[in-house]
Amino acid sequence: MKLNPKFKDEITKIHGGEKIKLCYQCGTCSGSCPITFITKAYNPRGFIQMALLGLKEEVLTNKNIWLCTGCYSCYERCPQGVEPAYVIRVLCSLAAKTGNIPAATKAGAQTILKQGLLAQVTDFVQKQREKLGLSRIGQTGVEEVQKIAKKTGFDKLVGL
Ligand code: SF4
Ligand code: SF4
Repeated sequence: MKLNPKFKDEITKIHGGEKIKLCYQCGTCSGSCPITFITKAYNPRGFIQMALLGLKEEVLTNKNIWLCTGCYSCYERCPQGVEPAYVIRVLCSLAAKTGNIPAATKAGAQTILKQGLLAQVTDFVQKQREKLGLSRIGQTGVEEVQKIAKKTGFDKLVGL
């Protein structure tokens, strides 16, 4: 196990990670987290501790960091104003840059880039909507999404 004591400094330089060093490990974030309630493998306090200790590789290769729903319960309740939801987002961004994106997340991103929507709209779905008197789902905004993805390199990051 290799420790990288400068990892926390790296995080504080990224938007959203500025306050990580204020964490005093009270656990309020994990106690408020709906995902931790479902699986103990997801633990925002633990991920922040790993980052503070310099366990860079371990935390960035941990697929569970991607389970955050962005509900912001931790953000609202952290007594130190660490904004843990943002810190987790920073960890995911860094993980993505090192190629550690779970297959399901990558597939979701590819679907958004291809059709502008996260859920795949199949012919079956369109027909069911028609039967129910609902309008067809279009591809509004997909060109704009693709343009942004190309400019930022997000398309390559998710393998398109
Ligand atoms: S609630 Fe805030 S201070 Fe407490 S463990 Fe989570 S991030 Fe750290
Ligand atoms: S934002 Fe993420 S880490 Fe925070 S409580 Fe919600 S699911 Fe948990």
